[in-house]
Amino acid sequence: MKPVLGCIADDFTGATDLAGLLSRSGVAVRLRLGVPTTPPKDTSAFEVIALKCRTSPVDEAVAECRAALAWLKAAGAERFFWKYCSTFDCTAQGNIGPVAEALMADIGTDQTIYCPAFPENGRSIYMGNLFVGQQPLAESPMKDHPLTPMTDSNLMRLLMPQVTKPVGLAPQRVVAQGAEMLRSELAALRVENIAHVVVDAVADENLQTIAEACWDMKLMTGGSAVAMPLPSIYVKQGLLPRNAPAAVKPDLSDQAVILSGSCSKMTRAQVAAYSQLAPSFRLDPIELAQQGVGAALRWLAEQDLTTAPLIYASAEPDQVRAAQDALGVARAGAIVEEALAELVVAARDQGARRIIAAGGETSGAVALALGISDLAIGAEIAPGVPWCYAVSNSYNIAIALKSGNFGTETFFKEALNVLEQP
Ligand code: ADP
Repeated sequence: MKPVLGCIADDFTGATDLAGLLSRSGVAVRLRLGVPTTPPKDTSAFEVIALKCRTSPVDEAVAECRAALAWLKAAGAERFFWKYCSTFDCTAQGNIGPVAEALMADIGTDQTIYCPAFPENGRSIYMGNLFVGQQPLAESPMKDHPLTPMTDSNLMRLLMPQVTKPVGLAPQRVVAQGAEMLRSELAALRVENIAHVVVDAVADENLQTIAEACWDMKLMTGGSAVAMPLPSIYVKQGLLPRNAPAAVKPDLSDQAVILSGSCSKMTRAQVAAYSQLAPSFRLDPIELAQQGVGAALRWLAEQDLTTAPLIYASAEPDQVRAAQDALGVARAGAIVEEALAELVVAARDQGARRIIAAGGETSGAVALALGISDLAIGAEIAPGVPWCYAVSNSYNIAIALKSGNFGTETFFKEALNVLEQP
């Protein structure tokens, strides 16, 4: 069928997060890694294209997102969603604003909303300021992110230098009064030429209101949570049948591997907890730069993969800074990503069929190395993290792509347990 909503995500974990939440509703969701190279055929009600453009140069990110949009339009989509992280991860130059503006131009619309809130995962927006749990974004662990350190919590201030058209706010006071009120606020802002509207949301009911007010916008932008109510709204509007068959879990051996390149606080806790349960190997970017990935490959070759070993580069902020000072920010990240990419292919060839990757950029590198491009969404492990089923080098695999901040401390073990359930 023609996609009812065409989604573009700026990283792979963000895309699986969105695909997972959309599929909670029981409608068909298709996840594609990268812009498909063949013309659209047999598309689903929700099509999510995962890109790896969060930290790319602005021109490249814009070009890639426009190509994704063109594919979705060719598939017949008329409404679109630009998905970025619930912590608004971006560099000072972009790419959230520039991509939104380019998509708006191509779609032919003069207003969009920005709502990265995800209350279930502790992300809320008040007066345009983003909070992570009880902390403003810029005081949260996101201030130490290796690639996109967030040093301002105010979404309007972050957005303004990234766009050419005016930025405004639809505050909580308005959202709390319901969808009609929000619609009239957006219309009033449109009269003032406000193209980019940050929308407050502190609770799930606010997201419901926002989705009800904005479902027919040509372009919505935000985190995955604001898109979650859309499937039921489309069903109610008669745009969508609720008939999607659930993805069938393939028969998989229990050999597994976990790869972590996220340095987020939550992933570090997950790595620490899981290291108590299974064999683990720490990658050091400086050692990798000097000696290559050989030692890690040799360690991996000796492992019994039924123990689901863990390989991680996850490190504390001062260790990350030391590696970045020695190698440069981009190279430190790239060395780790390249090593994990090589290791995941080795693990697959050694028999691993259950693969967990932690970290947005990391997941992108891992998925690209495995050559997977078309994923079915399976069981949910934690809010925003489903198991996905795919084929890599003709092997059926299950893969979980976890954004750094997601999950609780026991995530890795829980993820493996979920696959044991019938
Ligand atoms: P998250 O989802 O937490 O943002 P990402 O994988 O997107 O995680 O980003 C983490 C980045 O940090 C990756 O580019 C990764 O290669 C890099 N990285 C991982 N470990 C280290 C380290 N020890 N030193 C420097 N950079 C690192």
